[in-house]
Amino acid sequence: AVAIYPLAHPPVLWLLLIFNGFVWPHVAYQMALRSIHPYQTERQNFLIDSGTAGIWLVAMGFNPLPGALVTMMLWMNNMAAGGPVLFLKGVAASVAGILLAGLVLGFQLHINTDIQVVLSCLPLLLIYPLMIGGIAWRLAIQLSEQKKALQHLSRTDALTGLYNRGYWQARAQEEHERMKRQQGNASLIMLDIDHFKNINDHHGHSTGDIILQEIAKILMHTSRQVDIAGRYGGEEFAILLPDTDKAGAMQVAERLRTTIALHHFIDTGDPTAQTINSTISIGVADLSQVGNFSEWVRAADMALYTAKHHGRNRSICFQPHMISNRPSCESA
Ligand code: GH3
Ligand code: MG
Ligand code: MG
Repeated sequence: AVAIYPLAHPPVLWLLLIFNGFVWPHVAYQMALRSIHPYQTERQNFLIDSGTAGIWLVAMGFNPLPGALVTMMLWMNNMAAGGPVLFLKGVAASVAGILLAGLVLGFQLHINTDIQVVLSCLPLLLIYPLMIGGIAWRLAIQLSEQKKALQHLSRTDALTGLYNRGYWQARAQEEHERMKRQQGNASLIMLDIDHFKNINDHHGHSTGDIILQEIAKILMHTSRQVDIAGRYGGEEFAILLPDTDKAGAMQVAERLRTTIALHHFIDTGDPTAQTINSTISIGVADLSQVGNFSEWVRAADMALYTAKHHGRNRSICFQPHMISNRPSCESA
């Protein structure tokens, strides 16, 4: 208004300015809110803004400072909301606005920016970039939080909160490489819930889920910070114990096994019923007994199936002779 004032324009232009400044933003906002495609409607609103900016450029006689300020604000919006495509469309809309206003008002030049105009431009000149910077900062924070949440989701088993198989395997493989490089030792524990199918069949799947969650909690509490525990499959879990030989791992395994065997699990299907008992079978293998990572997993798995074969609810350490006597799943 300060830049337009010195130029003699018809009064209707002032009505248009008041409409554009005080009414249009609310109309545009309501249009976007009520639209089935709000994002698209907002882009159209931005283009209308760019077009009207062309009208004000002509109305102020292309006064350089307010002209650049208005153009900068609107083009910045377009670039931020729609990238180069919306920016170029905005430029085209501004040119169209200039041509239309030029036809109606005629072209006048007023390129000396008075001090009143400079002063009236200052608040926006300072505040607007600050606002855009603030929005960019908020977006960056949001993005980094979403990235963290996504990373957590992609690594975690939704039911138990333990690492899922893929991430467990990646972490365990890393640890395996590290231990081999440093010629250190580590142990692998594979455990499987005994007769879990019967628990599901007799007490319901949701009780089965709760038992899986409780066992995962026991696993977390029993493991050290450095241990890598994960859900390996349906009712099968794995723990890698760095810097632990098979004797140490067997102690951990036995502690786990007895804790679970003595635990009273709640039957959610029938809260009045007695608590449920569940047991696990465990296979242990240490790094000195195997070569590569998959051999290690296989060794712990063989020990686990030997534990099943020998009556379940027990921990068994891998022995090389198990390779030739591997019990079949049916006999387990
Ligand atoms: P074994 O002692 O030989 O291990 O017998 P089992 O019944 O535990 O083994 P089996 O492999 O026959 O059955 C495993 C069961 O685990 C079958 C499957 O429905 C159940 N299971 C796997 N994942 C889930 C789960 O996320 N929730 C529930 N409730 N059950 C699951
Ligand atoms: Mg089982
Ligand atoms: Mg199983």
